[in-house]
Amino acid sequence: AKTSGRNRLAYFTQSLHDEAQNRLKLMHDMHFAVENRQFELHFQPIIDFASGHVSKAEALIRWNHPERGMISPAEFIPLAEESGLIVKIGDWVFREAAAQAKRWCELYDIGLQISVNVSPVQFQSDALSIEDWLHHLNEIGLDANHLSIEITEGLLLNASDDVKEKLLRFRDAGIQVAIDDFGVGYSALSYLKRFDIDYLKIDQSFIQNLETNQNDLVLSEAIVMMAHRLGLNVIAEGVETQAQRHLLLEIGCDHGQGYFFSRPLPAAAFEEFLVKPVA
Ligand code: C2E
Ligand code: CA
Ligand code: CA
Ligand code: CA
Repeated sequence: AKTSGRNRLAYFTQSLHDEAQNRLKLMHDMHFAVENRQFELHFQPIIDFASGHVSKAEALIRWNHPERGMISPAEFIPLAEESGLIVKIGDWVFREAAAQAKRWCELYDIGLQISVNVSPVQFQSDALSIEDWLHHLNEIGLDANHLSIEITEGLLLNASDDVKEKLLRFRDAGIQVAIDDFGVGYSALSYLKRFDIDYLKIDQSFIQNLETNQNDLVLSEAIVMMAHRLGLNVIAEGVETQAQRHLLLEIGCDHGQGYFFSRPLPAAAFEEFLVKPVA
């Protein structure tokens, strides 16, 4: 028993070691990932319930690692935040999203808006240059209202003057702002009256059991009512079934995003999705 216990400990220590090694290697590899064109954006359609059409899309980053294949952002974004590389990666995401928005707006005469995720670390960094972003839009000739940003509640709870100022600059420029993962983590709503926000994205944990959990339905309906009274639009995340879509329509939710409509798609596949009407 003693030996096996020791073996287990050895195994455990070894796997902790592997884990740390793995993190270090990813952090190292990430430094070259932008230049080596290993990042890719996927686009998930967001459906306007009123028209049934795709009116927006969320840009979601993927890392095509030479040895490991596609790595989820849930794994490498935290590492990018730790190392500070998130600003450089975020700049790439913004430019890539802008380039696609430009292309799709020219190809299809639709007012498509692409949203990019801006992590709290990235938003608060001095290295984030909104001026550069706006200058870039100017250069490629894309109207800022074709882009929006998704931020999280935590950023606004104890917002510094710097955060407030940046938020104002985004909105003054015409870049709309969405609160991502709304409803989880914080119960303070007071920031909603202090900041000018455009969308609330109801977290997918509320949508998952919409059909069976009466509380989730009540809370979702309350979020929609509150948002509308405040002049905000609501996007439901993680819509996976027709029944969920139906309930969301009933409670007056404005937009839906989720596997029911489409998974996040590479640019070419998203483009095909754009030309086909949504069921
Ligand atoms: P998020 O911003 O909340 O993005 C939504 C996540 O839910 C995405 O995971 C998406 O693929 C997934 N999803 C969409 N529809 C459904 C559905 O119907 N059911 C389920 N179960 N999941 C659905 P993904 O792409 O793995 O991204 C994970 C997180 O990584 C994102 O969560 C976001 O926080 C972060 N992330 C992704 N791209 C970027 C980026 O470019 N920059 C930053 N800073 N963060 C990013
Ligand atoms: Ca998001
Ligand atoms: Ca989300
Ligand atoms: Ca508003």
